[in-house]
Amino acid sequence: MPMKTTTLPSGEAVPVLGLGTWRMGEDKSRFTEEVAALRLGLDLGVTLIDTAEMYGSGGSERVVAEAVEGRRDDVFIVSKVLPSNASRRGTVAACERSLKNLSTDRIDLYLLHWMGSVPLDETVEAFEGLKRDGKIRHWGVSNLDADEMEELSGLPSGQNCQTDQVLYNLSRRGPDFDLLPWCRRHGMPVMAYSPVEQGRLARNARLDAIAARHGATPAQIALAWVLAQAGVIAIPKAVRPDHVRQNVAALDIALSSDDLAELDRAFPPPGRKGPLEMI
Ligand code: NAP
Repeated sequence: MPMKTTTLPSGEAVPVLGLGTWRMGEDKSRFTEEVAALRLGLDLGVTLIDTAEMYGSGGSERVVAEAVEGRRDDVFIVSKVLPSNASRRGTVAACERSLKNLSTDRIDLYLLHWMGSVPLDETVEAFEGLKRDGKIRHWGVSNLDADEMEELSGLPSGQNCQTDQVLYNLSRRGPDFDLLPWCRRHGMPVMAYSPVEQGRLARNARLDAIAARHGATPAQIALAWVLAQAGVIAIPKAVRPDHVRQNVAALDIALSSDDLAELDRAFPPPGRKGPLEMI
């Protein structure tokens, strides 16, 4: 079955499920296991991988490099520049380092990891230069709230932003209030990070009944809920092969309107604006 996709503002289709890699590449003794987990995901059709220069100080990018060896053209790689590196020159240098770690000549989607002290227009200028040079194909941001997205879209080339990657799951529904509607209005998918709340939703008893009805695990229900939201890409991280398989199988879970109403009661959507949460 081909993977379900969503469309970036550029018109390019990207998978709605990706593979997260935070905490990978930190411990050499786990390298082989981590590479195998990503390869298993790729074999099961999940061809988007999310990494960052921050993860394992480049170690995660090196795990990704090994995992995509021989199949680079089939994979959509997302990486991120740290805000402390996001100056005009620093962004270019960080990208060069990431390209080296990733053993590739281009990053498919390059994100500003979170907002720091460098003015956004400077980072955007650097991103546009990297695009012209073919070192990145698209750029986006992470952890920006609706007001910051509005500011970004008013900057020169700001409308070229392709995504906002934010913390979003059943227990972190803040983006439902205004960020997701903003992104939907602008035809921009959101990438939901920590979609199983770093494993905590896998142990949440409020998901047990629905999970039992679907013959699924609570983590799968949490993931299926994120995947049921329009214009959202989920990027769970899993090293255990059974977790990788379960996460891919969550694509086939169709939550009914009764299930969704039950989940709304257990994990209510926000009634008012709160600050964007981060992990
Ligand atoms: P997550 O994906 O919600 O959770 C990962 C944890 O859940 C791991 O301990 C994993 O265990 C476990 N897990 C995965 N699938 C499971 C399943 N089916 N059943 C039970 N447990 C399961 O959290 P995350 O790693 O924080 O977020 C995902 C990705 O988003 C990151 O890896 C990273 O790429 C990105 N991220 C971005 C930002 C940002 O600021 N932009 C911040 C955080 C994360 P095993 O590994 O042992 O299988």
